[in-house]
Amino acid sequence: MTTDIAWGIAACLDRDIDTWFPEGRTAKANADRAEAKATCLRCPIREDCLVTALIEEKGLGLSGRHGIRGGLSARQRFERETRTGAPPKPRRAA
Ligand code: SF4
Repeated sequence: MTTDIAWGIAACLDRDIDTWFPEGRTAKANADRAEAKATCLRCPIREDCLVTALIEEKGLGLSGRHGIRGGLSARQRFERETRTGAPPKPRRAA
């Protein structure tokens, strides 16, 4: 995890983390998936969260990625890396 990111202002803080790890395609899982992604879209550190996920998961297959991070599902992050190649570089602290 990149340490110069303001994780303390994450929109998922104090939320039920299970919402970010929906299993399958049940109505509950779909509702959780939608809620998590909507929360991520409002998160002030979404881009940093996504970049961190892409760096941490670099080279992993789909089965090695879990949960919604930076507003993207594990499959979406896997497909993004497959499509674009190397993950983005982390931002440097000012
Ligand atoms: S982008 Fe989503 S998963 Fe990442 S810190 Fe923000 S709310 Fe949490």
